[in-house]
Amino acid sequence: MRIVLATLMAMLLIGCADNDSQSTVTQVAQPEEMFKWKLVTTWPKNYPGLGLAPENFASKVAAMSAGRLKIKVYGAGQLVPAFEVFDAVSQGTAEMGHGASYYWTGKAKAAAFFTSVPFGLNAQEMNGWLHYGGGLELWRELYDEFNLVPFAGGNTGVQMAGWFNREINSMEDIKGLKMRIPGMGGDVITRAGGISVTIAGGELYTAMQTGVIDALEWVSPYNDIALGFHQVAKYYYYPGWHEPGPTLELIVNKDALASLPADLQAIVETAARAVNQDMLDEYTARNNEALVSLVETHGVQLRKLPDEVVAELRNISEDMLEELADDSDISRRIAESVKAFQKQATAYHAISEEAYYQARKQK
Ligand code: CA
Repeated sequence: MRIVLATLMAMLLIGCADNDSQSTVTQVAQPEEMFKWKLVTTWPKNYPGLGLAPENFASKVAAMSAGRLKIKVYGAGQLVPAFEVFDAVSQGTAEMGHGASYYWTGKAKAAAFFTSVPFGLNAQEMNGWLHYGGGLELWRELYDEFNLVPFAGGNTGVQMAGWFNREINSMEDIKGLKMRIPGMGGDVITRAGGISVTIAGGELYTAMQTGVIDALEWVSPYNDIALGFHQVAKYYYYPGWHEPGPTLELIVNKDALASLPADLQAIVETAARAVNQDMLDEYTARNNEALVSLVETHGVQLRKLPDEVVAELRNISEDMLEELADDSDISRRIAESVKAFQKQATAYHAISEEAYYQARKQK
C-alpha cells in the first residue's frame, strides 16, 4: 500500500513539474502582444443611446482580451469630424469606427442597404440576412476597395417617423418640408417634394430649435427623450417607414484587423455581435416607458402618418430601390439578395410573428 501511494505521489509531483515547466516555456516562447487602438465615431462622446454602443464594445473587448486589446473611443470632432469617420478608418488614422453605413452613400451608393431601406427588413430580419443570408459577405465585398471590414454594431428596432413642427395630413404637407433624414428615406422625402438634409446627431437639437429644419428623425422614444427633441418639436409621428430595422456599423481597418492574432480577431467579432444584440434588447425594454413619459409628462402629440401618405411614400421607395439596383453590378446583387430575403421572411412571418401578434390581441 505504501509503495503504491509513494508511486502515486511521485507521479503527481512529476506531473506538476512537467506542467510548470511547459507553461513557463509557453510564456517565454510566445510573449503576448498588446494592442492599443483608436475608435472614432459619428456620435458625440458618450452620446445617449447610439453613442454608448462603441463604449460598450471597447469595454467588452478589454474584458475578453484581459487588456491585450485596448480601444480608446473618440467622439465626433475629437480626432476627426463625424462624417470623416469612414475615411479616417479607411486610411488607418484610426483602426476602427462606429456609425451608420448610409452616411457613406457618397462613397458607395449601395451602402444604404446595410443600415436600412424604406419598407425593408426589420431588426430580426436584418440580423438574419446579415449573418445567415449572405448580407455580411456582400457588405464586406462593397467595403473591400476602401480597405475596411464592416460588422453589424447595433440595431434600434423599428424607429419613429420623426419629430415635426408641422402636421402631416396629406402629401401636400411634405412639399417644402425641410427635414433631417439621411439615407434613402431622405431621397424619398426629396422626391416627394421635401428637402432632406443630413446633419450629425450632435447638431440636431439646435437645428430644430433655430428653425433651420422643420422636422427630424433620430431614433425612437428611449433615445429621443434623452436628447430633448420634445422641447423643440410639437408632433411625434409613427411608423418609421424609412428605418424599419436600422443596423449600425463597426468598421475596422483591414490591415489592422489582419495584424491581430486569431483569438483577438475572434474577440472583435464576438464583441460586435454582442453589442449589436444588446442595443436591440435595451431599446425593446425601454421604448414604451419613454413614450408614455413623452406623451403624459411632456405633452407630446403622438400622431400616425395617414395611410395615403404611407402608401405614396412606399410607391416612391419602390421606384427608388429599382433605380439604386441599376446603379452597379454590386448594387444589383445586393438589391436582389435583400429582395429575395424579404420575400421569404415576409411569407414565413405572416404565419409566425404576424399571426402571433394577432393571436395575442384576441380575447
Ligand atoms: Ca434614424
